[in-house]
Amino acid sequence: MPFTALGLAPPLARAAAELGFTTPTPIQHDAIPAVLAGHDLLATAQTGSGKTAAYALPLLHSLQATDARHTPRRVRALVLVPTRELAAQAGEVLRSLAQHLPQRPKLAVVFGGVSINPQMMALRGGADVVVATPGRLLDLVQHNALRLSDVQLLVLDEADRLLDLGFAEELDRVLALLPARRQSLFFSATFPPEVQALAG
Ligand code: AMP
Repeated sequence: MPFTALGLAPPLARAAAELGFTTPTPIQHDAIPAVLAGHDLLATAQTGSGKTAAYALPLLHSLQATDARHTPRRVRALVLVPTRELAAQAGEVLRSLAQHLPQRPKLAVVFGGVSINPQMMALRGGADVVVATPGRLLDLVQHNALRLSDVQLLVLDEADRLLDLGFAEELDRVLALLPARRQSLFFSATFPPEVQALAG
């Protein structure tokens, strides 16, 4: 089954094909129509399952369908990841998949361990998609570089690792800044009680 049969816009299917993705993986097959329909998602996903594109493709599709005006510090979709490596990887996948869209979304990738100033500059005028590690995201909120009250779509990628790495408190603080009405996509390789509690 081609990606367009799942409801994705042709420019997204074309970008996927250029990455060598011609047939959806099982998680993509199940997740993409559900996300496009506006549902929340709780997915068991190992690395290697194709989970990044499983959220990146419908996220990009949905952003095209909604108002793209940038207002200062506004963020429309937020992807939280546990490590800078994963942030960079997810950012790359999003950038590649977005390349043929008529309205290329503005993407910012932010993580700790590097200077915050270039990240603050990059966020000027808001961003359609922010990929972030939780600590640096909160630093940026504190610096008034972005606000999270307009986030329509939240992705937690590798939720179990986020908790393993001690981000529980940061996650709670981020969740408290998000609007109650939003779509939430939750990916985790394992579902121990702490992850279930967070999902709840
Ligand atoms: P992920 O689980 O998102 O880390 O992806 C694992 C690997 O699968 C990455 O190298 C992707 O480039 C690749 N991949 C993702 N979706 C597909 C697909 N539909 N067909 C072929 N390869 C894919």
